[in-house]
Amino acid sequence: MKISEFATFLEEIDKRSGRIEITQLLTEMFRRAQKNEVKPISYMLLGKVAPDFEGLELGLGDKMIMKAIALATGASLEKVKELYDSLGDLGLVAEKLREKRAATLLDFTTTKTQERDVVSVFNELLKIANTSGEGAQDTKIKLLAKLISELNGAEVRYVVRMASGDIRIGVADQTIIDALAAAFSANEELVERAYNITSDLGFVAEVLAISGEEGLKQIKVQPGRPLKPMLAERAQSLQEIFEKMGGKAAFEYKYDGERVQAHKYDSRVELFSRRIERITSHYPDVVEALLKGISAQSFIVEGEIVAVEPETGEMMPFQELMHRRRKYDVEEALQKYPAKTMLFDVLYVDGVDYTSKPYLERRKKLEEIVQESDSLALSTMMITQEVGEAQRFFDEAISAGCEGIMAKTLDPAVGYRAGNRGWAWIKYKRDYKSELTDTLDLVVVGGFYGRGKRAGKIGGYLLAAYNPSNGSFDTVCKVATGFSDEDLVEIPKMLEQYRIPQKHPSVNSKLNADVWYKPVVVMEIVGAELTLSPTHTAAFSKIREGSGLAVRFPRFTGRIRSDKSATEATTVDELVEMYKSQLKKVQE
Ligand code: ATP
Repeated sequence: MKISEFATFLEEIDKRSGRIEITQLLTEMFRRAQKNEVKPISYMLLGKVAPDFEGLELGLGDKMIMKAIALATGASLEKVKELYDSLGDLGLVAEKLREKRAATLLDFTTTKTQERDVVSVFNELLKIANTSGEGAQDTKIKLLAKLISELNGAEVRYVVRMASGDIRIGVADQTIIDALAAAFSANEELVERAYNITSDLGFVAEVLAISGEEGLKQIKVQPGRPLKPMLAERAQSLQEIFEKMGGKAAFEYKYDGERVQAHKYDSRVELFSRRIERITSHYPDVVEALLKGISAQSFIVEGEIVAVEPETGEMMPFQELMHRRRKYDVEEALQKYPAKTMLFDVLYVDGVDYTSKPYLERRKKLEEIVQESDSLALSTMMITQEVGEAQRFFDEAISAGCEGIMAKTLDPAVGYRAGNRGWAWIKYKRDYKSELTDTLDLVVVGGFYGRGKRAGKIGGYLLAAYNPSNGSFDTVCKVATGFSDEDLVEIPKMLEQYRIPQKHPSVNSKLNADVWYKPVVVMEIVGAELTLSPTHTAAFSKIREGSGLAVRFPRFTGRIRSDKSATEATTVDELVEMYKSQLKKVQE
């Protein structure tokens, strides 16, 4: 497939907002592609060159891209910057400057270079991503400049956006899965499962294109290939949990730390975060504890890494653990914040896939293979059918420094549901002295300058929920409370790298922010309740015509959810669910 044809498809997709139409276009595109093109196309649709866990980043940073554009088009860097300020999109800037260049060269060019196809453009992007070491920045800029100079029109626009790691077409993973299933006549659930157990859409797409459904069935859970995490629904009361779980359930402490999926193979351990990024190098002590404490040649286990107070062995808040994430002082952090891993699941042991086995069987296996120590233990667990007992367990969990409890189904027919949020796991968290029984993880899309003491500085943020049906970020509230003096300095500084001159196209907002950000950073907030509001766009007209959902009295909890990507933020559908259960609670 020529890159121009691919770009035309992307332009068409850009014009649509309905999921069905977009899926049809993608299906048509996959049908027209050669077998070897399906993988690169899948990655490029996500603005990537590899699955997240490989850590191969394209995001070149605005400055580098501007330099490449200048180099490729002969425009001055000032001109590029000026255009960026007015157009708000480096893809458009490159496209515009290329047009000019082509026009001035028209009379002199007699030969046209051969048009690139998607595979060759993908390989160039991959080369850029793989360039490292001394002089890497310059090399990357030159490679990108060369690519830009060989492309035209929409091709340049999209390739430059890919280089910036932000393709801006708002196609969710799920939409690509649907299109792949339709294009290759495969069962959607099979494609989805393959994706959920490999976290690699390009790989799944290629297997499907080459070997069809049969190929998909051969994909197995395998150490080294992270699975998408199983996720929980939330409940308002313990009674509700027992209702959903059929009267009896297992309860575990819900630890306040960082989720980890640990894989052992070839005598080594790799750690993956909740958003499937490799975090092995941040936790050498966790790796060591797992190597020592688990008696199996190969395994995949899941747990929560918590920070402990070195003197007392007591758990410390999540923020303390986040200090560990600063890559450079791992050694120092090891002393200051020793970590303990609380294991709560096992997905694979020595050739046996445990994901289809029920909770109790997995728990038993975990008990069998783990030798507890100061740095490794199983999550505290109990099984009960009584609300009173569950309540006591919850109180204990809170006083031990946990966020609440997790209920897990004992249904023998239910296994580990990779990539699914469902009622097989239910979280029940401490009430943060507010009416909303859970925190919300919202995406920062804009900022507002403060007044008074905060004049001239960003003092509030526009926050949005994720809408997976069309890939948009729909606003829910403005938050300006809960920030410490340090937050007021550090957060705007951290957000600066995501600042863009205009509203990001995937942001759906009626409000005009003073500054706009790429939807990347996820902020945790609490609020008094959800209300209907005509100024916010989340779940717009879903509950009442002309109104969206908004958070009343939102407050920042002090936690930036760097373990979540923007597409893992609270979704619009979750808000609708929360609104409905809030209504039910009021009626009771
Ligand atoms: P939250 O913001 O509440 O942590 P989340 O969206 O990250 O939610 P959920 O699936 O909704 O994830 O809640 C479960 C999370 O709680 C897990 O991702 C995990 O990090 C954490 N956790 C702590 N203890 C446990 C446990 N015993 N079993 C499962 N998950 C646990």
